[in-house]
Amino acid sequence: MEKVIEIKNLYKSYGEIKAVQDISFQVKKGELFAFLGLNGAGKSTTISIICGQLKKDGGSVSIGGKDPDEYPEATKRALGVVFQSSVLDKPLSVYDNLKTRAALYGIMGEAFEKRLQELAKILDFEALLRRPVGKLSGGQRRRIDIARALLHKPEILILDEPTTGLDPQTRKQVWSVIENLRKKEGMTVFLTTHYMEEAAEADYVVILDNGKIAAEGTPLQLKNAYTGDFITLYGVTEAEVQTLGAAYEKTADGYKISVPDTHAATALILQHPSVFKDYEIVKGKMDDVFLAVTGKALKGGNE
Ligand code: ATP
Repeated sequence: MEKVIEIKNLYKSYGEIKAVQDISFQVKKGELFAFLGLNGAGKSTTISIICGQLKKDGGSVSIGGKDPDEYPEATKRALGVVFQSSVLDKPLSVYDNLKTRAALYGIMGEAFEKRLQELAKILDFEALLRRPVGKLSGGQRRRIDIARALLHKPEILILDEPTTGLDPQTRKQVWSVIENLRKKEGMTVFLTTHYMEEAAEADYVVILDNGKIAAEGTPLQLKNAYTGDFITLYGVTEAEVQTLGAAYEKTADGYKISVPDTHAATALILQHPSVFKDYEIVKGKMDDVFLAVTGKALKGGNE
C-alpha cells in the first residue's frame, strides 16, 4: 500500500532535552494511525516536524514523497491539522471563520460555498453556520476545527488529541465523524490520543516513550505480544479455581484468571471441563498493552 508519511531515524532536541530520538515509522494511505505516549513523550514535536513548523536535527521525513523542509507549500496542501487547542476566532461566526481560512488557500466565491456545503453535510454543522464560534459547545467547536482543517481537501488529516476534554457522549460523536471521514472520504487519519478504546480501533499503533518508539503494531499484534488473555469464571467456588493452578483474582461475580495466551486458555478449559461451565474469555485491552510497554497508565484510558 502507498506510504503517505515516511519518517526515518528522526532526531530532535531542545538544548539538553532529547525530545525525539531515532524514531522511524510509516503511515499508509487510508489508514487510521494512532500515535500514543504520555505527556512529554515527543508526539507534538513529531507532529510539528511533519507539518514543517519545526526543523528536525537529523533523519528524514517524507510527506507524499516530499520533505517538508524543502517543500513547505506542498506539505501544507497535503495536510490538514487540528491542534490540541482550537485556533478558531471566537467572536466570528462559523461561516466567517471558514471563509477567512479558505481564502488563505485561494478558495473563494462559488468554490468556497460548494466546499462549505460538502463539509457541513459530512460534519453535520449546517445549522451552526451563523453562530459565533465562542457560543458553541465543545463538540460542535471540534467539528468546526476539523472542517477548517479539511477546506483545502488535504490527503492526510492530523488530529492532536481531538477528543481530550470532551464528555463521553461528545467524544463518541466526534469519533463517529472521524470514522465517517475515513470510510466515506477515504481519508488518512493520523491521531494522537489518551483514550485507549480509540487506539484499539486504529489500523496501526505506535507507542512513544521518552522520545523513542517503545512498541508498534496492529492492536491485535500488540495485545498478543504484551498482554495475556483473561478468563472470567462464574458459578464456581474459590477451591475449584485454585485447582486450576493459574493466577486469579476475585471479581464481583466470579474469578478472573490470567493465562499467557488463547492457546493456554483452551488447554486449561480442556483439562478442567467440570470447572468451566459458565465463563467468558477476552484478550488483554490496549490499556494493558500501554501499561506493559511503558510501565505507566495513560490518564483517561479507562473512562
Ligand atoms: P503532550 O502529550 O503533553 O502534548 P508530547 O508527547 O506532545 O506531550 P512534546 O511536546 O513533543 O511531547 O515534548 C517532548 C519533550 O520536549 C518534553 O520533555 C518537553 O518538555 C520538551 N519540549 C517541547 N517543546 C519544547 C520547547 N519549545 N523548548 C524546550 N523543550 C521543549
